This record gives sequence, C-alpha cells and structure tokens, in this order.
Amino acid sequence: MLTNDLRYFVAMKRFLKRLLQGLHIYYPLHGFYRNIVDAQTKKKYRAAYKKYEGKGFICNFCNAQYKKFVPQYPDKNIEEAINKNAVIAGFGENVYCPNCLSKNRERLVLAVLQNDLNVTGKSILHFSPEKNLYNFLKDKARVTTVDIMPGLYRNIDKNIIKADATKLHFADNSFDMIIANHILEHIPEDVQAMKEMYRVLKPNGSAVLQVPYSEKLNVTIEEPFINDPKRQERLFGQRDHVRIYALKNYVKRLESAGFTVTVLSPQALHNYKKFAVQDSESVVIANK
Ligand SMILES: [Zn+2]
Repeated sequence: MLTNDLRYFVAMKRFLKRLLQGLHIYYPLHGFYRNIVDAQTKKKYRAAYKKYEGKGFICNFCNAQYKKFVPQYPDKNIEEAINKNAVIAGFGENVYCPNCLSKNRERLVLAVLQNDLNVTGKSILHFSPEKNLYNFLKDKARVTTVDIMPGLYRNIDKNIIKADATKLHFADNSFDMIIANHILEHIPEDVQAMKEMYRVLKPNGSAVLQVPYSEKLNVTIEEPFINDPKRQERLFGQRDHVRIYALKNYVKRLESAGFTVTVLSPQALHNYKKFAVQDSESVVIANK
C-alpha cells in the first residue's frame, strides 16, 4: 500500500516527466544527467581503486590495469530470478572498469570484435548503442545506431534513429554486421525481430546478439506481453525483461529466423580472461 506522500511523489514525477517531454527537453536533460552521474561515479571508483592499480586485469577499452575491477551483485528484488536460474547476466566480481566504467559484457564483445570478427570499413547496425562500444566502432566503421526510444541514447550518438526491431525500415541486405546486445530479451515478438535482423543483414554478414541466458534452464521462461515491472523483476531479473532464455532454445530461435549460429564457449574465449570478462559467458554470433 502506497502512503499518500509516496503517491504524491510518483504523481509529481510523472507530471514533471510529461512536462519536460512536452517542452522537448526531457531526453537532453536525461543525457546531461547521465553524463554527470557517470563522471561522478568514475571519479569515485578511480580514487577507491587507486590502491589496486597494477598488473592483474586490463581494460581493453581504456588500457587501465588493476588487480581487481568493481564487483556488482544482483539487488534483493532480482536475486532469486538470477540465482535460481543461474542466469549469465553480467553479475559477479570484476564487472566495471574503475577507470572508464566499461562493463564485463562490453569488454567481451569488444575482444570478439577486435579478434574474431573484422569491423574495419564495415556498415554496422548498432542497437541501443553502448557508449564505449559505439566510440570504438565509429572510428573504424560506418555505424547506424537505432533504438525504440532514441532520445535515451542521443548523448551517445546525436544521429540515432528511431526504429522498432520487429519492423525495421531498412532495405534487405543493408548491413555487413549487426550488434544488438541485451536487446531481444526485452522484445515480446523476439523471433519477428530476429527475422528482421536476418533480412537487413547482407549475405555472409554476422550479428553479435548477446542476451542474458541460462544453461540450467531447458526451456525459455517468458511472458511476452507482461507489463508488470515488479513481477518482471521477480520472474526475469529485470523490470523490463519479458523472458530468460535457455541458451539452447535461444540458438534454436535464431536458427528458425534463418541464421547459422556459432556459440563461442568460455573455453574458446579463454584468452580474453585478462580483460576481466564474466567467467562462464559465451558469445553468440548469428551468421547469414
Ligand atoms: Zn576501462
């Protein structure tokens, strides 16, 4: 039961958001605020981890070296979903680089892009661009960024385009590569989005499509059209996720959309341990 004060606060927050959106300054302010928070967080971690500087792990985004990185464990409200289903979702020791705040999952994708795939000169479709990854890509490739709520990412790429992954407005065979990390678990009609990604990818193109997944689950658990953030946290480990993929089933769904799938196992990714990547994370590459 909400108290009156809390109810007032929630209503006020909603009103302010609508007002700022009406004035077209909500997203610029949001980006500005994000940048300030990131700068403060960096300052805090750089100071706190100064004592751990030195050989151990190296960040492949900024080259900083530390004996340990910043850990992150699931909050109480999502803990059960993550732990019970053994979800590979990026939690654990050595998650954030204390110097640039890159996440373990971004460092793993970067290592794969630098060593296992070639991005130089390629046309790349990058969904919901991660700041560090986008900055790496934009100097080497022709990158088109998209999101269903582009305003949230305008501080990363001011030219980001609004796009619904299930109804892409790009022509068939438009891109050499697609990068969509931690996107599909949010989308009710995920197979439709996979088909669209397949359609706009050029023949011989590759898509890096990381999602949180479980190898313990035999079937994907999902409620595609759920709209209940509290329940989504409890069931799926995040307030805007609609499923937890069983890894095998995730691969099957990608194949049903037309892709040939390669799963790079943690053993195959062994050389990237020095970048403080998640121990048991695989990388899913979908090829056309
Ligand atoms: Zn870094």
